[in-house]
Amino acid sequence: MLVDKGEYKRLAGDMFLPTTSDEVARRGWAGLDVILVTGDTYIDSPFAGVAVIGKCLVRAGYRVGILAQPQTDADFTRLGEPALFWGVTSGCVDSMVANRTASGRRRRRDDFTPGGENNRRPDRAVTVYSNAIRRCFKQTAPIVLGGIEASLRRVAHYDFWSNRIRRSILFDAKADYLLYGMAESSVVALAGALRDGGDPTLIRGVGFVAAAVPEGAVELPAYEEVAADKEAFTRMFHAFYANNDPLTARPLAQRQDTRYYVQQPPPLPLDGPALDAVYELDYERDVHPYYAAGGEVRALDTIRFSITTHRGCYGECGFCAIAVHQGRRVCMRSEASILREAQALAAHPAFRGTILDVGGPTANMYGIECTRKAESGACRGKRCLHPAICRELPVDHGRQLNLLKTLQQVPGVKRVIVASGVRHDLVMADLKHGKRYLDAVVRDHVSGQMKLAPEHTEPGVLAAMGKPGPSSLKAFREAFNESTRRAGKPQFLTYYLMAAHPGCTDGDMRKLKTFAAQELEVSPEQVQIFTPTPSTYSTLMYWTERDPFTDKPVFVEKGEKGRVRQKEIVTGPARKVT
Ligand code: SF4
Repeated sequence: MLVDKGEYKRLAGDMFLPTTSDEVARRGWAGLDVILVTGDTYIDSPFAGVAVIGKCLVRAGYRVGILAQPQTDADFTRLGEPALFWGVTSGCVDSMVANRTASGRRRRRDDFTPGGENNRRPDRAVTVYSNAIRRCFKQTAPIVLGGIEASLRRVAHYDFWSNRIRRSILFDAKADYLLYGMAESSVVALAGALRDGGDPTLIRGVGFVAAAVPEGAVELPAYEEVAADKEAFTRMFHAFYANNDPLTARPLAQRQDTRYYVQQPPPLPLDGPALDAVYELDYERDVHPYYAAGGEVRALDTIRFSITTHRGCYGECGFCAIAVHQGRRVCMRSEASILREAQALAAHPAFRGTILDVGGPTANMYGIECTRKAESGACRGKRCLHPAICRELPVDHGRQLNLLKTLQQVPGVKRVIVASGVRHDLVMADLKHGKRYLDAVVRDHVSGQMKLAPEHTEPGVLAAMGKPGPSSLKAFREAFNESTRRAGKPQFLTYYLMAAHPGCTDGDMRKLKTFAAQELEVSPEQVQIFTPTPSTYSTLMYWTERDPFTDKPVFVEKGEKGRVRQKEIVTGPARKVT
């Protein structure tokens, strides 16, 4: 219990979902249909998946409660049992990524925990929470896994922290169903099926356990085979990745022991009005008072007055899981909906005039998408941006420019910042509006520093990452400097770089350092060591030490000292904290 009962009763607003039985009663509910369990604290925000899913269910007529960061049996039993299902997620981030550094050490800070100390989210949170529910309630409603940890661990996957191939998390957690990807529509369909006696295994985006391979499903190599054979693991991953587009995917099946993990094709993407509706639900944009009493939640500072304009990414950087989780298709909200959200932010009592971010996984993909993809699905075997930008992609920042201009005119809004990463190759490829977009961003939408994530500068490493080459980075830097001069403002570029990605040697890091000094005139500080997170192509390369497309051997720095050394070639040795 984090807060005095009377105090939180006084503080709790109406738009928060209930977290205690008293709040359930105050809503006039005799019980709950769904209880969502999360590894993050409960922030009622469109940036928090558990809030979004909970509110979509409430909108559909279900009674939903939230247990955030439960630890004891008393926490797990606080809301009783749900009538329909338990929804279990690690939170916004895979719990191993949230809890461990790239070196495997436990992180001390957690921005999604009150007080900031990393002391409330267990490793492998989804499995731990599912086990706790089974321990507290012997016969209970189905357990449904969701969120990024479940999504990226849904088939057999490489787990960096145990350095082995693990089974589907559905089997490890002994849960009943798994909803992968963006689950707003599938979770409502699942609730309907469980309420009305329908068949949950027919829903898009659902994973479940079956005794046999369903008709029409693609059978992936079995868990035992991929755990023992890296070539089979590569074949499995290609087939898994290829069946990730909602318009072209087939159901997948993978034998785990004597049974099969089966998944239906991904949910159809929410676009336009359906996506608008999700972001315009009644969010408090605050931490629930029950948890807020535990201390400051730092994540709130960045998400509270930020706006999501779109989801999905066609960048397909090899180390990023967005394409597998959110999809390659960029789904966009309407300008009218984004404007209404800006007006709502401006009316918030704590708003001080700055919208801290207008963006998505990549800020400048808003308004830029391929018609062919929307109609027939993303191309298999061809990427939208790598090795060159596809001619079918209508690169035009005009819509974003108009949006930013409109947002700046909202009464009460003094500044609109673009803090999400910008793809510099897209800006440079836009001959119509690229320069105007850059001018506008430099003049009005960055505060001193603009973040770029080239990740590396050496062509071989960039090719392994699926990132654009150094020439477009240099061209962008020149254009940025010109824009800065025109704006008469000193603005700087900050470069996010990566060490120890598969294919990267000490020599590549030395060249990166030289390139940064000579071509970019910086001494980079933002260098992260590559973490092989589940279900990415870079992780596949890390595990197999081969290029998954050419089958050629790839150098991979796996030793802890070597990985740190690669970083320190650029940054110098880390200073000891005394
Ligand atoms: S046509 Fe080009 S932009 Fe469209 S999905 Fe295929 S690769 Fe991507």
